[in-house]
Amino acid sequence: MKLQNKVAIVTGGSRGIGAAISKELAKEGAQVILTYHSSPDKAQSVLEEIKNFGGEGRIFQADASSFTDAQKTVDFALNEFGALHILVNNAGITKDNLILRMTEQDWDEVINTNLKSVFNYSKAAVKPMMNQREGKIINISSVVGIMGNVGQANYVAAKAGVIGLTKTLAREFASRNINVNAVAPGYIETDMTSKLNDVQKQAILNLIPLKRIGKPEDVAKLVAFLASDDANYITGQVFCVDGGMVM
Ligand code: NAP
Repeated sequence: MKLQNKVAIVTGGSRGIGAAISKELAKEGAQVILTYHSSPDKAQSVLEEIKNFGGEGRIFQADASSFTDAQKTVDFALNEFGALHILVNNAGITKDNLILRMTEQDWDEVINTNLKSVFNYSKAAVKPMMNQREGKIINISSVVGIMGNVGQANYVAAKAGVIGLTKTLAREFASRNINVNAVAPGYIETDMTSKLNDVQKQAILNLIPLKRIGKPEDVAKLVAFLASDDANYITGQVFCVDGGMVM
């Protein structure tokens, strides 16, 4: 197991990609704190799955857009498991609309949940990681943060911001042995993409050379690798998991 004796926080671990990442890290031996915002039952059932295969973890209610909640999550990890080695900034939402119809509130909510959250959690997590002289931060961006996308100005700006923040954190903390990378999923089958209609889904499929929609597990496997010592010489990078959409 690649992550034995490692402690990980996964934000938004209650559903979709975050749930798959939480399970994959736990399968590799990590003790996982998975946060949730509004789905306590789903978070609990992810934790039960983890415990059923002999893994270790906790759930923690936290709004990723809150600076205070991020610090509380890190304190909780340190109190429960005594260390923090891995942070996966996964929590995210969409509030899509053409920019002419996008409200200020929709802009702020998406930026705060998808981008400010990465600042909140990274700032809280680097302190124990610096003390340990070891850490891995993996930020979940999106291919649209690279390509742009009509109707997603708020989300695209947040996901592009996550890439810039990743590279800056990688440079600021390289000397402390903290690696920071971004993963940019393409079209992955989760609650987030279930809102798309059939015409939208087909249009996206036409852009995917591998001609299939991705699974949360496709993303989780890469995150587990980046969280492990096998990735010690990799930092500041953006990895697309997208069936070849961006190349
Ligand atoms: P999802 O199925 O909608 O799940 C979103 C997760 O984020 C849930 O666990 C949710 O928790 C959590 N969350 C939402 N707001 C939160 C907040 N304020 N504080 C803490 N947690 C919060 O989405 P997903 O598809 O798995 O997406 C996960 C990540 O991958 C996101 O960053 C998303 O932008 C990115 N991504 C997804 C795709 C895709 O095709 N699905 C593609 C590219 C990038 P609760 O349910 O407890 O509220």
